[in-house]
Amino acid sequence: MRYFNEPPTLGPMPAAPDSAPPRWCDLHLHSNASDGTDEPADLPRLCKAAGLSAFALTDHDTVAGVAACAAAAKKQKIDFVPGIELSVDPDVDGTGEPAGTLHLLGLFIDPGHPWLGEITQALTRARAERNPEIIRKLSGLGVRIAYDEVLDLAGPGTTVGRPHIAQVLVKKGYVKSVHEAFAKYIGSGGAAYARRDLMTAKEAIKGVHAAGGLALLAHPVQLRLPDEDRPGEALAHVVGRLKAQGLDGLETRHSDHAPADVARFEALADRLNLLTTGGSDYHGSRKSIQLGHAAVPRGVYERLRDEARRRWGPGRVVAGRKP
Ligand code: AMP
Ligand code: ZN
Ligand code: FE
Ligand code: FE
Repeated sequence: MRYFNEPPTLGPMPAAPDSAPPRWCDLHLHSNASDGTDEPADLPRLCKAAGLSAFALTDHDTVAGVAACAAAAKKQKIDFVPGIELSVDPDVDGTGEPAGTLHLLGLFIDPGHPWLGEITQALTRARAERNPEIIRKLSGLGVRIAYDEVLDLAGPGTTVGRPHIAQVLVKKGYVKSVHEAFAKYIGSGGAAYARRDLMTAKEAIKGVHAAGGLALLAHPVQLRLPDEDRPGEALAHVVGRLKAQGLDGLETRHSDHAPADVARFEALADRLNLLTTGGSDYHGSRKSIQLGHAAVPRGVYERLRDEARRRWGPGRVVAGRKP
């Protein structure tokens, strides 16, 4: 299993010939509306330059970048998917397992839907309580940074998260890398970790559907399931539970997934009759992952788009280019 900031396992994408539309898409990207570093309006141009013909903006717990990104995508004539990445409670059946994180991607959402307005406000409030608690715990360990430094670095209107805190820790010389900041202090086992109250997966899936989106499980490897003894059993259980709660699909291709992971997740999606998605999880210069890195064929985007249209009609899909 690959995990955060390790060298890529998938090779560079072959360039598309000039006459054919680019064959690749990237359905998991962050902007500086959350913990990426690019302006939402710059992403369409960067995606085109990376040889992509469709992409999704999936900022953590916010849709603040979607409108600017959609407008720029239209100008650049690249297909755009309005999205969000929601952090939800990984304990899907109240057993205390799994230990990792559960992120749900909402793709093709209507960013103006009231549920998204309410939930993103609540999530911002939860972060505004959790982040200072991390700062307090750091201070107790002799690591002194001010929350204002973190807010300044993140910029106004941003979903402020641990990657911003990590960057301040690097800047002030407390750690050498973001990776070390997570491992030593702010990761889930770290000495300054603070959890926040998370909504249930069921609530998130229901909300994404209400907002006209498809709900897909992001990067299953980050659930950190204990799979050593019965490979795949624990994941099949969690995904089965989520499917019963309305889950539409799995993110099979992702920069944290080795080729063997992609194969087993594709097989699971096939077995459970779930859709698939894929993306790089690009965060601009904050992480080393390149745009288009997960090498997701354009057909993956087209299947999701067609399913969104089938359920909610063509008005739901913000397309920059005629299909
Ligand atoms: P937060 O939303 O504040 O809980 O932080 C989540 C963000 O932290 C996501 O972008 C993750 O990709 C990132 N993250 C979580 N664990 C690590 C890690 N060990 N190294 C680097 N980034 C991480
Ligand atoms: Zn992130
Ligand atoms: Fe994620
Ligand atoms: Fe992400």
